[in-house]
Amino acid sequence: KFKSTQDILRIIGNKDQIRNFGVIAHVDHGKTTMSDSLLAASGIISPSVAGQALALDSMKLEQNRQMTIRGANVTLFYETDGKEYVINMIDTPGHIDFTGRVTRALRAIDGVVVVSDSVEGIMTQTETVTRQALEERVRPVLYINKIDRLVKELKLGPEEMQKWLMNIISHFNQLVDIYAEPEVKEKWKVSIQGNSVAFGSAKDRWGFNFKMAKKTGINFKDVYDAYTSNDPALIKSLSERSPLSDAVLGMVVEHHPPPHVAQRYRIPKIWPGDLNSDIGKALLACDEKGPALMMVTTINVDPQAGRVATGRLYSGTIKDGDEVYLIDAKRPGRVQSVNIYMGNTREIVSVLPAGNIPALLGLDYAIAGETISTVKGAQAFESIKYVSEPVVTIAVEPKHPKDLPKLVEGLRTITVEDPNLIVKINEETGETLMAGMGVLHLEIATSLLQEKGLEIVTTQPLINYRETIRAKAGPIMSKSPNKHNKIFMRVEPLPDDILEMIRTGKIKEDMDKKEMAKLLRDKGWSADEARSVAAIDVSGNMLVDETKGVQFLQESMDSIRSGFDDVIRNGPIAHEQVRGVKFVLHHFVPHEDPAHRGLAQLMPATRRAMLGSMLIADPVLLEPILGIEIKCPQDLIGQVSSVLSGKRGKLLNVEQKGIIAIMQGEVPASETFDLSEKMRGATAGKALWNTYFKAWQPVPNSIFRTLVGDVRKRKGLNPEPPSPDEFIDKE
Ligand code: GDP
Repeated sequence: KFKSTQDILRIIGNKDQIRNFGVIAHVDHGKTTMSDSLLAASGIISPSVAGQALALDSMKLEQNRQMTIRGANVTLFYETDGKEYVINMIDTPGHIDFTGRVTRALRAIDGVVVVSDSVEGIMTQTETVTRQALEERVRPVLYINKIDRLVKELKLGPEEMQKWLMNIISHFNQLVDIYAEPEVKEKWKVSIQGNSVAFGSAKDRWGFNFKMAKKTGINFKDVYDAYTSNDPALIKSLSERSPLSDAVLGMVVEHHPPPHVAQRYRIPKIWPGDLNSDIGKALLACDEKGPALMMVTTINVDPQAGRVATGRLYSGTIKDGDEVYLIDAKRPGRVQSVNIYMGNTREIVSVLPAGNIPALLGLDYAIAGETISTVKGAQAFESIKYVSEPVVTIAVEPKHPKDLPKLVEGLRTITVEDPNLIVKINEETGETLMAGMGVLHLEIATSLLQEKGLEIVTTQPLINYRETIRAKAGPIMSKSPNKHNKIFMRVEPLPDDILEMIRTGKIKEDMDKKEMAKLLRDKGWSADEARSVAAIDVSGNMLVDETKGVQFLQESMDSIRSGFDDVIRNGPIAHEQVRGVKFVLHHFVPHEDPAHRGLAQLMPATRRAMLGSMLIADPVLLEPILGIEIKCPQDLIGQVSSVLSGKRGKLLNVEQKGIIAIMQGEVPASETFDLSEKMRGATAGKALWNTYFKAWQPVPNSIFRTLVGDVRKRKGLNPEPPSPDEFIDKE
């Protein structure tokens, strides 16, 4: 059954025989074990190798944490009813901290297998990711894993098992009901009879769906008997009679669409260009003869081959030596070598048509999320909006100063592989700072650096705060350093719905002005104001120009803009990033002579006017609040709850599933540094938990002053924040 590269290329010549899918699962629900089982059965690599290694988890670190954090691509061969398929399985992380990666992976696939532990059911993270999949028009099927636990732990009989499982299925279908689009909602709901749900045990490698049950006669009574007997031979016979890989891949080839079918309805959703253009038509048809357009989902840095850009080729054909354009990076590149995954190893193929997942060598400037095309200036895929924000920062330095260049190189590599990691230099102290989405995210990044053989020293994690206002204020006036220019500024808090539109990119600076005005009028803005947006900052701030007929304004706008950009990076309270402020330029009195109203005059005047008006608008620091999901035995709910309340956190919901409890809560990020220890201490290590960014919230008044003083001191500033008088001028 072993397949060669030639076989694979022959099969993918027919698009009907291609599938691109991903796996969504909550941590620990069995994604790795299941994927491993599929790989072992795929016939592309030797089953004995796959049986021993956790194939998808190429890194030791991930095996330790049992959490897949890096995009990997695995190609499977599957044959059913005499038809051959090449199935690309693209890794989708289950950890919510990395939601940016999930969205990227979702772009490359047309279907997902949602894996759920039979005891725990669909967990919040799975819900979030499934919801994203549905919104991106990716079709789901459901695999309920760890059926053995229903017998061994919950002691359910065959009938009770079925009842229990029906609940999980209907919970899942509620998600489809809420988030899938009306046209596909009914068709995309999963059901046993429709053959879109499978049950099994990945650990024991058996599984079945409706069709297989009809064919082999396997049923819940057999499962029950095998596990109550506890006879390894009986359990093994389940996998011989009904292998898991058939159950899962059978659903994939039946329900997940091949690329040319999927692209017809997915392209209008994920590609914002003109569908009647040459590229538009080629994309809709998945036409290998059209211009090439590819979306990069993953970058791996290979010690030998260098940067490897893997992603989905939606149209055209890519071959060795092609001159291409990196659309977002606005630069040309040359494809050195076109590769394809065979099992989990990369093979040279030199040329690959649309609908497939090429791995391209030689594109040194490609990053994850980049659009690659043979057409210069082609419309890029919609940029991906991150659900998470970096909220924790550490400073990193090499243990031995001579290793600094190595550190810089190491940081460059890991940020290429993980765009959610942000590296910057503190200009005041010269420190190298690394910001991530949680303590765990930074711990992983740090171990990656250490694995590259670097000895590094890191500081305690620091929280990133935001600055905002809670009232309207102004207009106030500030003069330029030469006193010859006056800027009049007022401020207002930006409401949540506008912030959401900015965050998701619904409104952005470079969009059509009329369209933006319409969206803002729909939110209650006056026609005048909706037309006058001068700048939008993606972290959630706006500059509006309400001046009327002021001389020299047009040519001064760049300098004013620089003032805006500077204030947003360094707010008045603690030099933290500003979020949620609408700055309104109310009036502008320039000096007649251009020599006296240059950048050096107008930028500081704008800065002062913005800082001054924020300081009289009830300013406050926002702190990141993390959502937390905790699983533990029921009798420990009380202990977990008191750990949380000791950390300014709270429990929001408790659900009991059999003997375990699943709790949802929230806790300020600044209180999570020793949460592991506290939780372990209180529960004797029996609680499993993880966190994700949830919201920005004002810090309580009781800690505000001390906190501001601490943050300012750390940055080498005077601990007292400035007073508004320092920025506001009288006539
Ligand atoms: P992932 O985090 O979703 O990739 O989960 P893994 O595949 O690493 O599995 C998590 C744990 O569940 C491991 O200890 C597995 O051995 C175990 N596991 C996986 N499948 C099953 C199953 O069908 N039954 C039981 N009882 N345990 C399983």
